[in-house]
Amino acid sequence: MKIPDIIIAIDGWSSTGKSSFAKQLAARFGFLYLDSGAMYRGVTLFAQERGFIGAAGVIDEPALEAALPELELHFERDENGTRLFSGSRCIESEIRSMKVSSFVSPVSAIPFVRSWVDERLHAFSKGGRVVMDGRDIGTTVFPNAEIKLFMTASPEVRAQRRYDELIMKGQKADMEDVKRNLAERDHIDSTRAVSPLRQAPDAFVLDNSNMTFEEELVWVQGVIQGKFGILQ
Ligand code: C5P
Repeated sequence: MKIPDIIIAIDGWSSTGKSSFAKQLAARFGFLYLDSGAMYRGVTLFAQERGFIGAAGVIDEPALEAALPELELHFERDENGTRLFSGSRCIESEIRSMKVSSFVSPVSAIPFVRSWVDERLHAFSKGGRVVMDGRDIGTTVFPNAEIKLFMTASPEVRAQRRYDELIMKGQKADMEDVKRNLAERDHIDSTRAVSPLRQAPDAFVLDNSNMTFEEELVWVQGVIQGKFGILQ
């Protein structure tokens, strides 16, 4: 199926499979995949490594804001997919740890962090042909995206997926910790003052609690065909 040079914005709750889905979609259409959550995770790792997040979890915002110009994040593509780099260092594995997951929502609620990330997402997306996933892509970052999807799934399914993902990566995981982290992130992401997680009014909702990956791909192809009047 040949589709125009558009932006596909995928938002939704944590661990609904947004990034795996976005990656597959990008591969199928020859689009660039951009993971906005990875950028927030990269900023969080930076804040932790620089000691801007205290033992009690308090973020030293002035220090983070002053140091942020020193951070350079970019994506590199290889046969294993897209990986996030901080300068020349690949940080893909560190940013997925529970340590980063525990602080990424408070860090991403800070307005100057959001502007810093948004600016880079816009620069990376010049020319279109992009699939981007996150929480506010269809509402704030690309409100004019031609295709907007909003992904959801039951809390049990989401927790199991996140748990399996951590175990598969050889990381330590406890189901209760995973559930708590998901609930906390849902709460912070959907109630923050700046760019809260919201379903855009023109987004197509995908509840994949009981869907296979292939069914999801067939579904989205139908959405795109319908939108652009593409017959096959
Ligand atoms: O998508 P992922 O779970 O990796 O995102 C990590 C966190 O980054 C989210 O829980 C959310 O706090 C934040 N985020 C955001 N806006 C986005 C993408 C992610 O606030 N567009």
